Amino acid sequence: MRSQTPGMTEDAAPAERPAICSAKACTRPAQWQLVWNNPRLHTPDREKIWTACDDHRESLSHHLAVRSFLRRVDPLAPPAP
Ligand SMILES: [Zn+2]
Repeated sequence: MRSQTPGMTEDAAPAERPAICSAKACTRPAQWQLVWNNPRLHTPDREKIWTACDDHRESLSHHLAVRSFLRRVDPLAPPAP
């Protein structure tokens, strides 16, 4: 038997994945995280995260902003030593 735990999912743990830019074909290390939510697909408490390098921060956040999905852009903390 399996109990469902609402709330924290692995999906919402950006620290566990390598911080590489989410832009297509870009493999640069990400320096920003774009926090977004699509109200048609996601409940309001759900936060999706795209990572972005310096070059793609603007284009990716614009892509989300024009759809009114973008919530905020946070600097990504550098990886712990
Ligand atoms: Zn990039």
